[in-house]
Amino acid sequence: MFTLPKLPYEFGALEPYIDAQTMEIHHDKHHAAYVNNLNAALEPFPKLQGKSLEELLVSLDDLPASIATQVRNNAGGHVNHSLFWLMLASNAGGEPKGPVAQEIKKTFGSFAAFQDQFNAAAKSVFGSGWAWLVVAKNGELKIVTTPNQDNPVVDGKLPILGLDVWEHAYYLKYQNRRPDYINAWWHVVNWQRVEDNYAQVTK
Ligand code: MN
Repeated sequence: MFTLPKLPYEFGALEPYIDAQTMEIHHDKHHAAYVNNLNAALEPFPKLQGKSLEELLVSLDDLPASIATQVRNNAGGHVNHSLFWLMLASNAGGEPKGPVAQEIKKTFGSFAAFQDQFNAAAKSVFGSGWAWLVVAKNGELKIVTTPNQDNPVVDGKLPILGLDVWEHAYYLKYQNRRPDYINAWWHVVNWQRVEDNYAQVTK
């Protein structure tokens, strides 16, 4: 059985950039629903219950057809949100300082150019989805987007930073103003965690 991880900070920790009510509903309702739906989908298939989220997501084609879509959406939702909470922190933001900073400069020219490209990608997601900074198979950084709850790992790309641009992530505070939410989100990016993620996927 998969379980909902605890938020590593208070609901209000990311104020004023992300409001407490949004965090509470996002974590306690939306993320919880992905976990519950995933467990319900796997319940009739004991053999699948021992698999990791990643194993489930990279073998969607091998799953029973009756649950493949549910697993795609809900295992994706669970893994994406579990990553997302950790990539946020209070008193965060700014710029990375370690190897990620160097790779960003090498790949995009400057941190500002990277931000511009990431913002453009996040704004371009039509409907619900995510923008990601990933390590591609050749080891290079790349900005990608995914629809719904898809995760780049399905395409062999390892995410080190991700931004949820579903309306449920920002609508209470920002309504239709996704660009304002994106700009605010940079203030709570946990670059230390992104550096740790990078070290993990490139070791
Ligand atoms: Mn979400």
